[in-house]
Amino acid sequence: MVDRFGRTVDYLRLSVTDLCNYRCQYCMPAEGVRKRSHQDILTVEECVEITQAAARCGVTKVRLTGGEPLVRRGILDICRGISAIPEIRELCLTTNASLLPELAGPLREAGVDRLNISLDTLRPERFAAITRLGRLEDVRRGLSAANGAGFLHTKLNVVLMKGFNDDEIPDFVDIARRHPIEVRFIELMPIGEGGNASFLPAETVLEVCRDLRPAEGSGVARRYRPSGGRGLVGLIEPISHRFCAGCDRIRVTADGTLKPCLHSDRELPLRGLHGEDLRWAIQEGIAAKPERHHMTETGRSEAGRSMNQIGG
Ligand code: SAM
Ligand code: SF4
Repeated sequence: MVDRFGRTVDYLRLSVTDLCNYRCQYCMPAEGVRKRSHQDILTVEECVEITQAAARCGVTKVRLTGGEPLVRRGILDICRGISAIPEIRELCLTTNASLLPELAGPLREAGVDRLNISLDTLRPERFAAITRLGRLEDVRRGLSAANGAGFLHTKLNVVLMKGFNDDEIPDFVDIARRHPIEVRFIELMPIGEGGNASFLPAETVLEVCRDLRPAEGSGVARRYRPSGGRGLVGLIEPISHRFCAGCDRIRVTADGTLKPCLHSDRELPLRGLHGEDLRWAIQEGIAAKPERHHMTETGRSEAGRSMNQIGG
């Protein structure tokens, strides 16, 4: 479906849980979040039904996110149900990778096409500090499990933080030089806990790594290729270079509300709606997409929820 500003909206980001086995400092409070009762979270059937309705509104690509989608009970059933929807051409999942050693193979079999793996540092002690509960070794094992299960075109998501990982930019770019994967540097957004860490513009990557050359690509990332590189470097710059003009997505939270824009507190409840009513509500959500966010002017997001609740 095309929205009021001429943007084709064909991408659904569906959060399947707000729980996580990590507590990344910029995403979740140290004490975690209150576990909600099962009734408050979308069921497997609702996740599939909402995606079916979104598909009838023109959605062809779905990303499962969270919280950590792999801690969600029934995640494989959700994947199977969504991958069976004929209009859905691509099913992706964003994960911290810690549970991939057990789940990479089953996810592949359940129809997941591609993975984005979040990894902000290559140093074990920093990793433990930023995730509060994580071990870098688990991510390494998760990455190799993803390769072993046959996942191709995996992307690495790196949130840039001044004074935390800026000195690792060349090491991450080197990964894109040596491996056929895309390393995406993401600007920290002042949502929830994200306001506590130090922002670093993604443009810094181009200043530090002078051999990056522009590469073709679609979507919200600016893409570059390191010289002699097998992979790509992507810059996701919601703060410095607003990509609202190319925004092609809607979001649904784990408790079943549609967010037309990540940075707006406008939400449309979807739970309890079925058939044409559900389809109408999703159409209304697409029509409600604002032209752009105002974070650059105000320095804060109006998301109204934390990242683990919305799904990034
Ligand atoms: N748990 C999964 C993971 O970490 O990949 C999926 C959910 S997580 C909320 C999705 C993405 O949002 C991750 O790449 C994470 O680094 C990113 N993220 C979380 N808080 C952020 C913030 N304040 N600014 C920018 N990105 C953020
Ligand atoms: Fe969990 Fe992902 Fe948030 Fe880290 S970024 S706390 S892994 S949801």
